[in-house]
Amino acid sequence: MPKPGELTFTAPPRRSKPPRHLADLTLAERREAVAELGEKPFRAAQLSKHYFGHLSDDPEQWTDMPAATRARLAEALLPSLMTSVRDISCDDGATRKSLWKLFDGTLVEAVLMRYPDRVTMCVSSQAGCGMNCPFCATGQAGLTRNLSTGEIVEQVLAGARALARGEVPGGPGRVSNIVFMGMGEPLANYKAVVGAVRRLIDPSPEGLGISARSVTMSTVGLVPAMYKLAEERIPVTLALSLHAPDDDLRNTLVPVNTRWDVREVLDAAWHYEGVTGRRVSIEYALIKDINDHGWRADLLGRRLKNHNAHVNLIPLNPTPGSKWTASTAERQEEFVRLLTKHGVPVTVRDTRGRDIDGACGQLAAAEV
Ligand code: SAH
Repeated sequence: MPKPGELTFTAPPRRSKPPRHLADLTLAERREAVAELGEKPFRAAQLSKHYFGHLSDDPEQWTDMPAATRARLAEALLPSLMTSVRDISCDDGATRKSLWKLFDGTLVEAVLMRYPDRVTMCVSSQAGCGMNCPFCATGQAGLTRNLSTGEIVEQVLAGARALARGEVPGGPGRVSNIVFMGMGEPLANYKAVVGAVRRLIDPSPEGLGISARSVTMSTVGLVPAMYKLAEERIPVTLALSLHAPDDDLRNTLVPVNTRWDVREVLDAAWHYEGVTGRRVSIEYALIKDINDHGWRADLLGRRLKNHNAHVNLIPLNPTPGSKWTASTAERQEEFVRLLTKHGVPVTVRDTRGRDIDGACGQLAAAEV
């Protein structure tokens, strides 16, 4: 258990790595891997089309290949990365949380949320989290390990396959949006996460072909990584988990603030906005009597106004062992009113999945 305020940036060394998977590789790397198996390089694109384009991980369906080739490619490039432990649903099946066991027994969760006009998948980037925010369940047990690119992509594809097969109420559908808001701090697992983003947005057969604008990267504010992300020139939406406009409070709510303070994270966010043109989303979990004061709404409004940002207020979701609760409806309305007065756009997040411990900050991946 990490001590209060203790941060873990690098994952503990791993005894073994997840098996290499098609989704870890670029198309060029897949061609090489296929050639090493003694197959023609064009099989890489065929295999990629089945996996990403047709969402098929079943070699029986790859009828454009000889049986021996199918078996060889499936064994070498589509190893099983995760097995299903449990799915739980609420909202009449429109919200579904999946618990997965990875090759080494590590547990992670992903959440699928179906809305009338879109399907959003909330994925995990790490098992556990090293950022230790006291109001978030994931941080409380610390960081277990980073996920590989393949392990992140497979969470999305598992959801995509379930939708395509019509297993989610509402008829067959597609994943339209992805949020890196599950377990972990995505920018602390930078390389694997950026690899996953590329696989998800690259057009078929290289990737899943989701629009970059429909992908949201959420961060506690790892400033150097935010600048680096801007340099990738991928127009993903950046969400910054701010939760307090002043350093005194943010140092305790988001302990990484002791490393990079409010001014520095906001500067990095404005830089990101300047480079990508994408409006930045400022995440603010409203916690009763902790960060919901009128003067804090005013200070937040002053810090954000005249910037291309919008505030996403999240009523605090309960987590085990925490005495904090969501703000009252009156305080929340007043907070919205004050931000609006400063000309800052605000939305209140409809938090899905609270009944199944699948909402923001509730993912802890326990087997019981
Ligand atoms: N580590 C990244 C990704 C996790 S995103 C980040 O912090 O941004 C999860 C979002 O839910 C973050 O904005 C997080 O601050 C917020 N959150 C965490 N615990 C919460 C809780 N108990 N109630 C509401 N939101 C919470």
